[in-house]
Amino acid sequence: MGNKQKFIFVTGGVLSGVGKGITAASIGAVLQAKGATVSIQKCDPYLNVDAGLLNPREHGECFVTKDGAETDLDLGHYERFLDIELTQKNATLSGRLLSNLIADERAGKFNGQTVQLVPHLTGAIKDAIALAADGSDIHIVEVGGTVGDYEGLSFVEAIRDFASRVGRENCLYVHVVYVPFIQTSKEFKSKPAQNALNDLRGFGIMPDCVVVRTDDPAPGDIAAKIARFSGVPEDAVILLSNAHTVYEVPLTVYASGIGAVLERFTGNASKPDLSKWRTLAEAQETRFPKTVKVGMVAKYLDNEDTYISVIEALKAAAWHEQVNLDLKWVSAEDTTDSELGELDAVLVPGGFGKRGIEGKIAAAQYALDHKKPYLGLCLGLQVSVIAAARRAGLSDANSTEFDPSTKHDVVYIMEGQAGKESTGGTLRLGDYVANLTKGSKVAEAYGATETVERHRHRYEVNQKFTKAIEAGGLTISGTSPDGKLVEYIEASSHPYFVATQAHPEFKSRPNRPHPLFVGLIKAAKK
Ligand code: GLN
Repeated sequence: MGNKQKFIFVTGGVLSGVGKGITAASIGAVLQAKGATVSIQKCDPYLNVDAGLLNPREHGECFVTKDGAETDLDLGHYERFLDIELTQKNATLSGRLLSNLIADERAGKFNGQTVQLVPHLTGAIKDAIALAADGSDIHIVEVGGTVGDYEGLSFVEAIRDFASRVGRENCLYVHVVYVPFIQTSKEFKSKPAQNALNDLRGFGIMPDCVVVRTDDPAPGDIAAKIARFSGVPEDAVILLSNAHTVYEVPLTVYASGIGAVLERFTGNASKPDLSKWRTLAEAQETRFPKTVKVGMVAKYLDNEDTYISVIEALKAAAWHEQVNLDLKWVSAEDTTDSELGELDAVLVPGGFGKRGIEGKIAAAQYALDHKKPYLGLCLGLQVSVIAAARRAGLSDANSTEFDPSTKHDVVYIMEGQAGKESTGGTLRLGDYVANLTKGSKVAEAYGATETVERHRHRYEVNQKFTKAIEAGGLTISGTSPDGKLVEYIEASSHPYFVATQAHPEFKSRPNRPHPLFVGLIKAAKK
């Protein structure tokens, strides 16, 4: 790869939401397949300090890293595509940088200087990029939003100026634009893309590569036209229409000619080994004789992004088990037994707040009563503990999150967490070790008695009620090493009823599905 570290900056024009994150991750995947060590970072211009308090319906899932950073779902794409574990330094937000800057200013660290967006915020962005890049051959930086957005200007200026720090020849600027197809005149319209490229040049960035996103394949003359108006060589204008599945994108981006661009940039002419992606893309197109119906009991039914890591983990487990996944959305606000009865398995994902909680408890209860395969994730564990306690006769058993005055607080808030309910960054976050009971279903699934999983929750199982929980059909099968926190529960005389206080979905990989999800699909198949 030569000895100088390289930087790839991925920006967007025309509109966001056209797969800039997947494109960035796929470029990384191609480079990895050429033998490079790749690191990647998301820069988000909004003023939140992290993604922890953002509404998941609007913003999609909050992805949690091993060190407990609450980040944008793009970090999940990066982890799944590049099979690496990221940390706080891979998620750079204006809000966090500004709050640090202002704290430094208050602490007198600027020695009388005027503190400004340029050079102080832009300097902080450049430092954050250098820090996240440490140790890799090639570092990819995706800038959220579109170029020209008022709030993103500091990032655009910082990545432009970054070239003077490391050398322009070590920077590759990739602009992802969208070209719409106009139904009435049956033609692709490149004008918005040309304007977006003008905007980028107006900020002093001459792109090296333009990725043209279209819904359907666009003719080559679109590339020629964009090349002519943007000054980018035609072979560096990459036409990228919608792929069948996201895991096909490393293949399509390579087939569309990014190879030549990357070769010129890195000097590495080796052919990437993309066989992993070929296998994954084929797996998703394969129809198996058997289909399993998995019901996801959830509040936000209109946005798959809200549960993207859970859905990806289910898909990966289904391919592994050679079955088709038929994902059913079960509204937590009106679950019915007949709806649950039609499913081969039930999954209750993580969640916060009271809305829909009784439906989730009912789903866990139904799965216990009817021996339906069940996987509970975080809140999915808490509702099953509530269901078990109620089955054992504690009819008002609840979590204090939903009923603060319940006498049977089988899920409660531990000392140190009380009073912080709406405060950012105060949950139990990131990697924690758990010890599993030998011979338990979870130990069997993992093939180990020690696990490390990511967490994001505030409430815990109240072990004062262990007897009632057991009487209701559940066993505690994994705890924190000191035994104080319940990490796993399961039902022993049940084909597969497993729940964890953690979020195993974050560690699932498309080609290496998480064992707890594999266990669910295996049981659903029977
Ligand atoms: N609301 C629950 C808690 O805070 C569960 C959180 C989750 O599912 N991530 O403990």
